[in-house]
Amino acid sequence: MMEAIKAPRGTRDILADESWKWAHVLKICREVARDFGYNEVLLPIFEHTELFSRGIGDTTDVVEKEMYTFIDRGDRSITLRPELTASMVRSYLEHDMIHQPQPVKLWGHGPMFRYERPQKGRYRQFQQVDFETLGAANPLADVETIDTSMEIYRRLGISNLQVLINSVGCPECRPVFRSALQNFIGDRLGDFCETCQSRFERNPLRVLDCKKPGCKELTESAPVVLDSLCGDCRSHFDMVTSGLSRIGADFRTDNRLVRGLDYYTKTAYEILAGELGSQNAVCGGGRYDNLAEAIGGPHVPGVGFASGIERIVLTMEGQGAYPGEKPGTCVYVVAASPEAGLEAASLVHEIRSKGISADTDYMNRALKAQMKRASSIGAEIVCIIGSEEMESGTVGFKDMTSGVQEPIPRSEVMARLTAWKEARR
Ligand code: ATP
Ligand code: MG
Repeated sequence: MMEAIKAPRGTRDILADESWKWAHVLKICREVARDFGYNEVLLPIFEHTELFSRGIGDTTDVVEKEMYTFIDRGDRSITLRPELTASMVRSYLEHDMIHQPQPVKLWGHGPMFRYERPQKGRYRQFQQVDFETLGAANPLADVETIDTSMEIYRRLGISNLQVLINSVGCPECRPVFRSALQNFIGDRLGDFCETCQSRFERNPLRVLDCKKPGCKELTESAPVVLDSLCGDCRSHFDMVTSGLSRIGADFRTDNRLVRGLDYYTKTAYEILAGELGSQNAVCGGGRYDNLAEAIGGPHVPGVGFASGIERIVLTMEGQGAYPGEKPGTCVYVVAASPEAGLEAASLVHEIRSKGISADTDYMNRALKAQMKRASSIGAEIVCIIGSEEMESGTVGFKDMTSGVQEPIPRSEVMARLTAWKEARR
């Protein structure tokens, strides 16, 4: 026999026992987007490679090692998007949103692709929700961004999150920090891991982001970015922390926090969940005032965040936080004798047309097996039609919660079910 084909490494099928949780996450995101004034956009899954190499930065892990890039049949270099921010800014520029009242607040969601080493909470195809505010340099827009992400988790019933914030400065003050850090690292270069050694020249800030315990320890006494900030970045940062305190946000300043993508300026933040183990970031975001220019547009300040849905769902599961109920079939129609099949099919059709979820048997199961099936799918009402019911024009109406079964006229079934559905709301 031929070997069965499996899903590619780093991808996963989100099956029925999980997909309803995803639908819930998106529902909450949509509600938060509405309440905070973000409009949804649906953007392409692939873009010109240049968008990411120029936008995210050539020396970042994402661009250097993680992109799914290929030449298409028209000889163009195409990349499956590794994130959404660059596409959001591209779309803003392409559609002249700069001429709309500012800021323009957009949100979107969908699959992202990164060639990474798959492990719990880290996949090659994963889903993000992404919220961006374009056109506002005001630090209070950063506060709103952070508040938006926290509101999503709050409404999802997730608690115990750690919100870490930092500033990564701007092109004016970052070089000062960069050289202070380079001096520090240079003095002990041999003690750092190979990756960090290679980052030392090209992108020393990323050394602070290394997850290896040895490197983490070494950078504990490294210079901190907040000491090198220029006046503008400093006052921006102070306003963000004041704004967060004012809305009662629970956050902590983390001097070592840098982000994996080059386009960040000023505010960088991350939200961590203990349930996630080593892939502990449920959300990453910040300000990117130079991204629009990097991809060939005018100066457009921006701030936003992205959150991984896999990690949101893992956190919800870890905390037992799922607030809703798994959707199920409300009514099961049992055909208790072979000639009742048509009548059962017609009843199930009628119930469904009233917006009540219903199902019936297509496997010619015996009565007992059909009753078992009804309870295994969690049906709350069972309608039984056998030869006796056909003759008397009735239906056996069983409330599965109380266990009470009574015959009711067929003509009254829909009214009973509609009343039951109303009462259940
Ligand atoms: P990490 O440090 O875990 O690699 P990152 O800094 O690369 O995260 P971002 O680029 O900021 O992550 O993406 C925002 C969010 O998207 C992350 O906080 C995480 O929830 C999610 N995410 C990123 N990469 C993956 C992945 N490979 N699989 C699943 N979720 C991911
Ligand atoms: Mg990463």
